[in-house]
Amino acid sequence: MSEQKNTAELLIIGGGVIGTSIAYHCAKAGVDVLLLEKNQFGAATTSQTARAFRTYFPRKPHDSELAARSLADFKTFAGGMGVDLGLADLGLLTVLTSPQQAAELEAELPDQREAGAELELLTAAQAVELNPWLDPDTIEAAILNPQTYRVKPEVIVQGYAEGAQKLGARLLSGITVTGLDAGSGVVSTTSGDFTAEAIVIAAGPWSGDVAKLTGLNLPVWGQFAELLHTDPLVTEGDVHNLPFTLHPVSGLKTMGMGKSLLVGLERISKQDGMRDIWFQAAVDELPKWYSRLKNVELHSAWTGTLDVTPTKSALIGKAGGKHERILFAAGFTGHGLAQAPVTGQIVRDLYLGHQPGVDLTPYSLATNLARLGTF
Ligand SMILES: Cc1cc2nc3c(=O)[nH]c(=O)nc-3n(C[C@H](O)[C@H](O)[C@H](O)COP(=O)(O)OP(=O)(O)OC[C@H]3O[C@@H](n4cnc5c(N)ncnc54)[C@H](O)[C@@H]3O)c2cc1C
Repeated sequence: MSEQKNTAELLIIGGGVIGTSIAYHCAKAGVDVLLLEKNQFGAATTSQTARAFRTYFPRKPHDSELAARSLADFKTFAGGMGVDLGLADLGLLTVLTSPQQAAELEAELPDQREAGAELELLTAAQAVELNPWLDPDTIEAAILNPQTYRVKPEVIVQGYAEGAQKLGARLLSGITVTGLDAGSGVVSTTSGDFTAEAIVIAAGPWSGDVAKLTGLNLPVWGQFAELLHTDPLVTEGDVHNLPFTLHPVSGLKTMGMGKSLLVGLERISKQDGMRDIWFQAAVDELPKWYSRLKNVELHSAWTGTLDVTPTKSALIGKAGGKHERILFAAGFTGHGLAQAPVTGQIVRDLYLGHQPGVDLTPYSLATNLARLGTF
């Protein structure tokens, strides 16, 4: 009769890479877990990524730390579960384009390394050796993060989901949460009511909407996101082995995809209807750093919904006061694959009342709400 049981110690809302990681880590610790997903596991934001994992986030050593810890967990998990996560070497080349930017990012290298990110400082010539499409005249220096890999998000989600189920967790798809009462722990859904001691909101870009059901202000929202691709750059062979290349000055990101470059441009805004302005910005930005690509056209590769917070880092924690049953892990703003493993461990520790061993201040509700006003 266990499939009819409508109670759980921990109920997780959302079956993306974050929710399934939490389910796995909590079930492994012996917690009675129930996860509810409105569609299919891993089919929302988690299926829209550039499939890249990195451990270096410039100016955010705290995000680098979560990713570095996650890499260790991915490897253990893959080995222990016999799952091939498809970790394939990619490398992240962060291109520094002014003396001031180079000085600033070089100055934080000790903190980044302390956080666990492996980093090598490169000259412009070394950077161009790794990515020959770059224009050497525009490069001051570069930082290489070899712990950057291509990954297979669908395999990660399947691995966590199956791992959790083997440990006794119940993961149900096709059930939408429609109501949430933090006081009683009752979660209303399209398949009836469930009751839990604690509830984790891991609903990706929809986490703010889910939190609102119980009157909690969780500043996470979905923002239209798009990746572009260039025309083919080569006739023979491919450019698949180029490193993931980031220009922090503008948020331009490129990586090889067959014979073309996959191109992204970070522009976080709450405003709708900005697609044409954004597209033109990407068209203008690419040839600034890749002068040989001046006449190469850009086309839409795919679109998605980015899970955004005011700090552009995730919200991970436990709500207080009348919402103390509620935990949250959402708004990974482009880093969800890189931080899912350790997020599962942190939420497990918060639920069990253990110290997560990570300073959660950058991920707290208070930090994010304080930034909301300035966003
Ligand atoms: C274009 C693009 C490229 C990206 N590239 C990368 C990348 O290369 N590397 C990287 O690390 N990150 C990347 N990201 C970010 C990454 O995709 C996210 O951070 C990550 O997938 C978030 O996972 P999640 O589980 O929180 O959210 P989701 O995968 O969206 O999962 C949340 C789930 O909650 C469910 N849900 C919502 N509301 C309810 C409800 N009421 N009831 C029940 N279920 C509900 C949804 O159906 C969904 O399945 C990218 C994002 C985009 C948009």
